[in-house]
Amino acid sequence: MPQTPGRPARAGLAALALGAAAMALGYSLRRRQRRTPRVAPQRLHAALPPRDPKAVAYTRTRYLTALAGEGLALGFLVAASRQDRPVRLRRWAERHAPNPFLRDALFGGSLLTLSTAALLPYSFVSGHLVERAFGLSRQSAVAWLADAAKGYAVSLALGAPTTAGLYAFIRRSPERWWLAAGGASALLAVVLTNLAPLLIDPLFHRYTPLHDEPLRRRLEELACRAGLPVLGVFEADYSRKTTKANAYLTGIANTRRIVLTDTLLGRRAAPAEPGQPEPEPVVYSHAEIASVLAHELGHHHFGHIWKGILLGTVGTLGGFALADGVLRRTGALPGYAGKGDVATLPALSLFLSLVSLAAAPAGAALSRAWERQCDRYALAMTNDPEAFIGVMRKLARQNLADPCPPAWLEALLYDHPSIRNRILMALEWPQTGGPPTDAAAPADRYRE
Ligand SMILES: [Zn+2]
Repeated sequence: MPQTPGRPARAGLAALALGAAAMALGYSLRRRQRRTPRVAPQRLHAALPPRDPKAVAYTRTRYLTALAGEGLALGFLVAASRQDRPVRLRRWAERHAPNPFLRDALFGGSLLTLSTAALLPYSFVSGHLVERAFGLSRQSAVAWLADAAKGYAVSLALGAPTTAGLYAFIRRSPERWWLAAGGASALLAVVLTNLAPLLIDPLFHRYTPLHDEPLRRRLEELACRAGLPVLGVFEADYSRKTTKANAYLTGIANTRRIVLTDTLLGRRAAPAEPGQPEPEPVVYSHAEIASVLAHELGHHHFGHIWKGILLGTVGTLGGFALADGVLRRTGALPGYAGKGDVATLPALSLFLSLVSLAAAPAGAALSRAWERQCDRYALAMTNDPEAFIGVMRKLARQNLADPCPPAWLEALLYDHPSIRNRILMALEWPQTGGPPTDAAAPADRYRE
């Protein structure tokens, strides 16, 4: 039988241990990453894009603002859980919605609204002004605010009923709630991942099947060779909002698809805002785009979305199990009606935020490992390291990525290997004796 975790002190220690383990993992992976290159330093130097001071400044600004954002979000939760504030908010919700489910949904929705409002100035600076200052945003302030309002509406529609469901589980089964809630969160993750490409993504961008016929044929041939022929390839009109390029994988089962941004395809869906300088579109060759697609196919081949959902569920179960002690202690405070009182939500959110922050370096390290796996897969599928290196150089320029970030920053926060390490892998590719065993499968299957 699973054990109900003990005292809050033990939970705190466990969170600290988790953080320490995450740091250790991050550093060990960094050591492995910064091993001696198997190519001549001059070759690596010649392949790397020049280190643009603007890109270095942008990378630093982004990570500093992200750090500030974490601090502000935690500060909000500390302030919201202090004194009798949560109890007063719950009493207010009770007056407007006597039904327990609606009361808890109103409480959750109100907490989300307060936090969105409190963090709005920060979000505007980091999400709009910084991007604008570096010439990466093509959006007006009004358009940015409209997107932020849509994001808030989606969070509210999902967050309010989720809060009510969670507290219904806690009241129904005070000892084993975390098992049921963890299971429900897994189910929710599967449903949301499946529906996001149909219901949520189109709120922010327009998705159309890839227009470019010769490119589409080339990509379909590649997908067929990878054993994933039914996969749709879509382009999205990111150029309305940004000059940055991207490609990603989304959906599961019948909604799985690969998305290439129109900025990667050298297109502009709308003219620039008046007075906004317009950088030249970066042009990627078909071979380079095929290399990007092959990387994304790798995520499908290795089942990274399913593995991500599975690991997320394990993390949620662990976080909930640890949070049980926090709920018990907070629920016993004067004015609170026990563990199942929704007034414990700010304390619960604060604790879960700290746990996920402590686990973030481990998550980033795992993500980098998966990205490296897909880079190797792309090289095996295309056998074109030059195209791969070309993409990396162009992406660094277009997205203002620092190709050589400080090693500690990469180890702790980067969810992709740095441009330097990705280029190094491609340079070493012909010397590693061809495709590694984990990437050999799709080509073999095709040959059969
Ligand atoms: Zn990837």
